[in-house]
Amino acid sequence: MTKRAYNFNAGPAALPLEVLQQAQEQFVDYAGAGMSIMEMSHRSALYEQVNDETQSLLRELYQIPSNYKVLFLQGGASTQFAMIPMNLLPAGKVGAYVMTGSWADKALKEAKLIGETAIAASSEAFKFNRIPDLSTIEIPDQAAYLHVTSNETIEGTQFKSFPVTGDVPLIGDMSSDILSRPVDVSQFGMIYAGAQKNLGPSGVTIVIVREDLVQESPKTIPTMLRYDTHVKNNSLYNTPPSFSVYLVNLMLKWVQGKGGVAAIEQYNRDKTQLIYQTIDQSGGFYKGFAETADRSTMNITFRIHTEELEKQFVKESEQQGFVGLKGHRSVGGLRASTYNAVPLESCKALADFMADFQRRNG
Ligand SMILES: *Cc1c(COP(=O)(O)O)cnc(C)c1O
Repeated sequence: MTKRAYNFNAGPAALPLEVLQQAQEQFVDYAGAGMSIMEMSHRSALYEQVNDETQSLLRELYQIPSNYKVLFLQGGASTQFAMIPMNLLPAGKVGAYVMTGSWADKALKEAKLIGETAIAASSEAFKFNRIPDLSTIEIPDQAAYLHVTSNETIEGTQFKSFPVTGDVPLIGDMSSDILSRPVDVSQFGMIYAGAQKNLGPSGVTIVIVREDLVQESPKTIPTMLRYDTHVKNNSLYNTPPSFSVYLVNLMLKWVQGKGGVAAIEQYNRDKTQLIYQTIDQSGGFYKGFAETADRSTMNITFRIHTEELEKQFVKESEQQGFVGLKGHRSVGGLRASTYNAVPLESCKALADFMADFQRRNG
């Protein structure tokens, strides 16, 4: 048996062992081609099949309506921060952003370089330990779109439902919770996500977008940064990150095998429950960062009352085979990322370790 770490990395993050093993089996010879998927033309029938099948799998799992396109792009979610306003924020219109934390801030900063923006709601006054009440969201009259970050990876907060925006397209950065729970795609104009947290390895960015929004991008935008380029070319305008797309394909089949997105959601709940319960029942030894109602099922952020103990927690956890429990450098503390592929066994082990650590240091 391969010895696997208890991997709580925030991204790139754990992949299912079964997926890695299948990739290993097919690594030097994909489907009898006498070469790996990485070595073949992206114009070959075999690769086109991977490209198309991966789209279909995502469509099926997420029940994506037929008037939406699925794109596989490069440059990470961070490039989407710029492509969105370049393509969808014309002069005279306003890009509206819900400020929920570190990633929302980065998205907004890029939009400011391109056009006029507005903050539709913010939880900055609470140090981003919650999602703003949806009823406080003010969408400007001239809004081109409303942008939300469905899960704030660094602060560990998550929208439990999404604002209803009428004719204004809702755009969701779902980089850290895509496919972790069912979502009504038709409520969104666009959903995007870097794959490396919940969907596969780094190198490919998933975009799900309503057709009418990407029919024709403004003429001045460079070819690679135009959505219409990638729509017209079925995400094969230039050389795609073929190995990454292939691994997403395997990952989607794994989700299917688990029973689909609703089953994955339940599995994720069971996993995080174990850890949140340990925090809640610790009598204040562990303190969750996020408000209970808004805390994330993907990134569990918490603190211990001294930094000394936090350091010791990280050190001891590493000695016992845990990886990735140090909080993001910008906020400190501790964080356990429990994405789709993180097994329940890892979460059980972490809950046990936390209880034991408290017994010895409480
Ligand atoms: C990780 C992350 C990003 C950045 O993704 P890249 O693919 O590294 O550009 C953006 N938004 C959220 C919510 C993230 O978690």
